Amino acid sequence: MSHVSPDFVERFRACLSDLKRVAVTESGSPFVVAGAGTLAMEMALVNLVGRGERLLVVSQGFFGDRWAQLAEAFGISCDLVQAEWGQAVPPETLRERLAAGSYRAVAMTHVDTSTGTAAPVEDYCELLRGRDELSILDGVCATAGMDERFDLWGLDVLITGAQKALGAPPGLAILLASPRAMEARRARDDVPAYSADLLRWLPIMDDPGRYFSTPPVNAIVSLHEATRIVLEEGMEERFARHRRTARAMRAGLEALGVELFTDEDRAADTLSVVRYPAGVDDAAFRTQMARSGIVVAGALGPIAGQAFRIGHMGNIGAGEVCRTLQSIERSLGRLGREVRRGSAVAAAGPHF
Ligand SMILES: *Cc1c(COP(=O)(O)O)cnc(C)c1O
Repeated sequence: MSHVSPDFVERFRACLSDLKRVAVTESGSPFVVAGAGTLAMEMALVNLVGRGERLLVVSQGFFGDRWAQLAEAFGISCDLVQAEWGQAVPPETLRERLAAGSYRAVAMTHVDTSTGTAAPVEDYCELLRGRDELSILDGVCATAGMDERFDLWGLDVLITGAQKALGAPPGLAILLASPRAMEARRARDDVPAYSADLLRWLPIMDDPGRYFSTPPVNAIVSLHEATRIVLEEGMEERFARHRRTARAMRAGLEALGVELFTDEDRAADTLSVVRYPAGVDDAAFRTQMARSGIVVAGALGPIAGQAFRIGHMGNIGAGEVCRTLQSIERSLGRLGREVRRGSAVAAAGPHF
């Protein structure tokens, strides 16, 4: 399909409009460009926060810390508030920081995929309401899997990628910017970016028939199909299904006697982080899993080798959860752990 064909232009336009419905925004401007979540993070910062200006980062893990690394790369002065891994930064801590000083922007992470924590982002946003700081939210592991309300929460930027809870193939940086964020971009003449400059992309997002740099046709057509699936299911039902899936998965895991890494009341609906029982080797376990066709991820940062991560976001349901639990049960058994056969699926079942 040609990137200038009327068919593609129409799909691109429809995809952008679908993304606004996913994030529940009338006024936000959607951007979709070739890249991934990290590029969307970078675009948010370079367009809105200048060298030497102050950024506050509220982090609950590896991806939250990435905001600080990006800030450093661009000479942005960064205050980093970190939660202990597996927990979230209490809103009270943000309140204190904001009382002690002002910032150009505050960067937050909805679900940190390294720790499985869902932060109380609605509370953070409430604290930012009426203030001058721009609110920037990383929704990569949450958008379209957990409730996010761009307009209602007063967000200035929401970023995500195609490949997580939206359930599309990887390859896209996705960003929504509020009118205030666009105004803040227009007020700058020092943006250290060319193909990551929101203003260069804006005319294309308004009319995808125009040219700035060739769009990744296949990825955008796939994303459009993904947003169509999301909206066909309905946001409320989709969030409810993610919640059921998470509960079922964790009930099954608990039945196997493994320990969850994340604080129970902060555990995300989109993934689970599981501690290895004593004596179970990370690589050996994941090799066993892969043999039955199930791929789980290793852990990152300080808990690498001590835990594994199961994504249960996107278009998955009871079938995938049960097969995954069976595979975990079998893999643990083969690695010498005592497990009661069938116990995980039996515990998960009632949650669907
Ligand atoms: C995956 C992820 C990212 C990075 O996205 P990439 O598409 O891998 O660049 C950033 N933030 C969170 C919360 C993520 O889960």
